[in-house]
Order: sequence, then structure tokens, then C-alpha cells
Amino acid sequence: TPVVGVLALQGDVREHLIALASADAVARPVRRPEELAEVDGLVIPGGESTTISKLAALFGLLEPLRARVRDGMPVYGTCAGMIMLADKILDPRSGQETVGGIDMIVRRNAFGRQNESFEAAVDIKGIEGDPVEGVFIRAPWVESVGAQVEVLAEHAGHIVAVRQGNALATSFHPELTGDHRVHALFVEMARGNPRAGSL
Ligand code: GLN
Repeated sequence: TPVVGVLALQGDVREHLIALASADAVARPVRRPEELAEVDGLVIPGGESTTISKLAALFGLLEPLRARVRDGMPVYGTCAGMIMLADKILDPRSGQETVGGIDMIVRRNAFGRQNESFEAAVDIKGIEGDPVEGVFIRAPWVESVGAQVEVLAEHAGHIVAVRQGNALATSFHPELTGDHRVHALFVEMARGNPRAGSL
């Protein structure tokens, strides 16, 4: 059983821990570099990407995170977590750093303000059956991707799910629904399952 961490600096950590546990992983919060070193994969949750970025720097996690992602640790970012995995942010707040790992440019708050949050059915490449219920909360979209990035889903003409190697990101929050198929896919990646690799 893979041990999957959830970066627990800010955001919807609890929901991810629950979703991962129900997708057959051992789920653990990660706040310190020593904890990061012990996980097979990591989720970066939704929340506020500038806050997560600042806290990651403050906790001495930014470089260790970059190192593990560079080394191929499976990583999954939702919403603010997607922003953290972007090599480039279109409109970064001053001092807003990312971990990177996905050759993409993201636009923060692209779908509008908090009160314009919405749900929509999203078809995700590699997820069988019904579309996933996408919960978009001040969500980013992916403005553009490099050649190594696989687009897994679009909504309203905008890219909302991507994968590059072992890094997965969605604009929306599967952890807020009872449907844990995206987490199950990620747990397979963390297990080193070749089927997840051939998505
Ligand atoms: N708008 C937030 C940000 O820019 C992300 C929102 C979310 O994670 N639900 O970080």
C-alpha cells in the first residue's frame, strides 16, 4: 500500500486525506522535510496558492519539494495545488513561487470570483465511466502547455486537467465529492503501477 502525503500548510487537507484513504492509500499530512522524505507520493491541496507558497518557503519545504518532484515523485495538485505545480504563473503575486514540475502556464482565478464558483461534469481522459463532477472554486485554468504535457480534460474550451510524467493537476476539487476515481488513479501512480503510467 503506497504512503501518500498531503501537503498540510493550508487548504483542504482533511478532505484529501479522507479521499486518499478511501482510495486504498495510507494517507498522512506532510509539514516538514523529514515527513516529505517518507512518502511515496504527495497531494498539494486546494486553498490559497500564495499562502501555500509562502508557508512552504517558511517551513523550508520549497527546495525539498522541487527536488522530489524533479526526481519523479508522483504528485497531484488540485486548484491552488495545480498552481503550485505550474512552471509559470501568468499573474503571480509578488514573491509567489511555485514548485513547478509541469511545463504549463496557469491563470489564477481564471473562471471568476468566489461567487462565480460552479460545478460541471468533466470528462477526464483515462477515467472510465461517467464524467467526474468538477467543483470549481475560484479555479485556475491552464493557459498553455509544453510538448511533454498531456491534456486530460477541458471545460468551456479551457484546459482543466493535465499530466506530465508523474505530475497530475486538476483545476477542480475531486476531494470535495464522494467520487474518488481521480484519487484512485493517483494512488495507482504512487504505487508505481505501469497501467497508471500509460494513461
Ligand atoms: N484562487 C486560489 C488561488 O489562486 C485557488 C482556489 C482554490 O484552490 N480553490 O490560489
